[in-house]
Amino acid sequence: MPIDILKDDLKTALSKLKAREDSLKRVESISHLGSWEIDLKTKKSIWSDQSYKIYGFDKNEVEPDLALFFSRVMPEDLVNAHKTLQQAMTSGEVTTFECRIKRANGDIANLVINGQVIFDENNIPAKLIGTSQDITDYVSLKNHSQELSNIIDHSSSEIYILKEDTFEYLYVNDGACNALGYSREELLQLNVFDINPTLTIEKVNLLKIIHEKNHGVANQTIHRRKDGSMYHVQSYIHSITYNTESAYVVFDVDISDKKETEQLLKEQNIKLNHQANYDKLTNLPNRTLFKNMLSQSISLSKKEQKQFALLIVDLDQFKKINDSIGHHIGDEIIIEIANRINSSLKINNTLARLGGDEFAIILKDIQDIQIASRVAQIIIDTIKEPIETHEHTLFISASVGISLFPKNAQTEDDLMKFADAAMYKAKDEGRDNFQFYSADMTALAFEKVVMESSLKIAIKEEQFIVYYQPQINSIDNTIIGFEALVRWMHPQIGLVLPGKFIPLAEENGFIIDIDKIVMQKSMSQFVQWYKEGLNPGILSLNLAMKQLNSDTFVYEMLKTMNQLGFKPEWLELEVTESQVMNNPQASIEKLNKISSYGIEIAIDDFGTGYSSLTYLKKLPLDKLKIDQSFVRDIPEDDDDAAITKAIIALGTSLNLKIIAEGVEKQEQMEFLTQNGCHIIQGFFYARPMPGDEIPNFLNGSKKI
Ligand code: C2E
Ligand code: MG
Ligand code: MG
Repeated sequence: MPIDILKDDLKTALSKLKAREDSLKRVESISHLGSWEIDLKTKKSIWSDQSYKIYGFDKNEVEPDLALFFSRVMPEDLVNAHKTLQQAMTSGEVTTFECRIKRANGDIANLVINGQVIFDENNIPAKLIGTSQDITDYVSLKNHSQELSNIIDHSSSEIYILKEDTFEYLYVNDGACNALGYSREELLQLNVFDINPTLTIEKVNLLKIIHEKNHGVANQTIHRRKDGSMYHVQSYIHSITYNTESAYVVFDVDISDKKETEQLLKEQNIKLNHQANYDKLTNLPNRTLFKNMLSQSISLSKKEQKQFALLIVDLDQFKKINDSIGHHIGDEIIIEIANRINSSLKINNTLARLGGDEFAIILKDIQDIQIASRVAQIIIDTIKEPIETHEHTLFISASVGISLFPKNAQTEDDLMKFADAAMYKAKDEGRDNFQFYSADMTALAFEKVVMESSLKIAIKEEQFIVYYQPQINSIDNTIIGFEALVRWMHPQIGLVLPGKFIPLAEENGFIIDIDKIVMQKSMSQFVQWYKEGLNPGILSLNLAMKQLNSDTFVYEMLKTMNQLGFKPEWLELEVTESQVMNNPQASIEKLNKISSYGIEIAIDDFGTGYSSLTYLKKLPLDKLKIDQSFVRDIPEDDDDAAITKAIIALGTSLNLKIIAEGVEKQEQMEFLTQNGCHIIQGFFYARPMPGDEIPNFLNGSKKI
């Protein structure tokens, strides 16, 4: 064969070989596979390029041999590497082992090493050939996923993987097993409905729809443990492929604590809401809630074209009771009265406590306003029934104001304001009655507000002056003494009579300060007259019950008298019959104390209240003052004449002095005198006069 042809063949064979070698190199590179061989006789090795790459050596810098290989094997794998390669050399079979090596740059790599021995013609091991596959990436991925899998397995949150179609569990973690009290094997026998008792197939289908839209879904559900107990969970659901199956992974978090807190908050909210809307003492709706109810009643009545009434009930002089017998008993009385009003109302009517001693009622759908009057009277009567407390039997009355929807007003504020004005009218009318609203009352109510604020200033600036009205012995026309009657010298209005401001002052307690001013002024006036040798007789001071109830009153009065040099025998205190009889037992104690200092006590406006004879006897009284309402029409009016005579007879039998007030005419004076009442006060003798007119009166007309 020509040499050229041979050369060509060789060339072709070489280029084929080169091509194969290149392709082998590429395969080695792709598969991270390096090949090697060791000549067992010379111990020299040949490494493929990829092998150099795996170990990280430069082909030109190292001479590979078995020693180099072992020097890179990590110490913990060294024994195994020796042993396995030794086996390979003797067995002749392919031997595989994993080991870790340190690359030239210090990185650790994981290798799978395959090796097989090649025998020579004499069956002596000549070469060891094999591959080193770099599986570092795979091992780190495997480790990583193992770590993740461990985390998931041991996570305290519950993690479930369930089949998309049957909802059976494919995987459950420790957290799920612990939370539910099942073993993993038991749980894998169940499906999602077994542990979610409230879950329905409809709900699941709905969740699926939401899931598809949002690529995930959150849901709150309840889990039932193996022992039957339940807890709330928050689930987050995502779809995955698990071992080639379509599945859902569910992360569940126990939110029972949160739910409990939510429940607590809810309960607390309900409680707060209740506190904000209901009166603590009576458990009735309070002002806030009542206003809402009133506005609802307005809407409903508008729609149904019906009429309703708003009643405001205010107990008369309740503050006084509260102050004198203690707030604790006052509270009991409020509860008792709330119960009484409640039981006199039909079930569909609304009762609320607006505050203090004030109640409000909505009488729904009243066809006739007579119904409102009837209910108001029933309420007044039921409140008036005696109230037995621990030590006292109390008689309480109430004043009721009524406004009507839609007749009087169409808004809740106006209805309230008008019922309030009507209630004040009832107070002005002598309490213990009811009044319907009428337009002129609003002006009155307004007047009241203005009055209250200007009264405050009046007290501060002592805008009060005292008038004196003589009390005359009608037999010898001598002056017994003078009643001090307060007047308010208003800077703009001028002189204001007590009828205009005393009731309000009694109601809000200003009377205490006013009476102190009157006492101070009149006593110092009397001391001056006595000093001047005028001999004005006895000073009659009107005393509000509020004053008497104050613990410090007697002490303060005595102190004032002492400071001014006012003698007790110059003083007489007038207390009204109704005020005394409201709480006679307490009055007896207080008045006894006053009387023990030699101060006289007169009962004012006698005949207008309800005196108990038993108490009249027990009270330390000196004088009865016949009210001017009986005097006005005597002697013509037979009834008044009879009453006047009866009062005189009663007073005489009780050994009391008797005085008549409001005597304007000669006949009145004569009738009284003839029937045994010799002390007379009234315009017939003199009108109340300012202090500077009294010296003249005393000097000029000592004998009238
Ligand atoms: P009161 O204690 O019953 O006083 C008698 C009232 O009758 C006085 O009215 C007096 O001016 C009036 N009056 C006297 N004579 C006649 C008469 O002949 N005809 C008529 N029509 N009236 C006569 P005033 O001064 O307006 O006082 C009214 C009430 O105000 C008093 O009634 C008393 O309850 C109260 N008041 C007056 N001053 C004081 C005070 O300083 N303190 C207290 N707490 N109440 C006072
Ligand atoms: Mg009086
Ligand atoms: Mg009087």
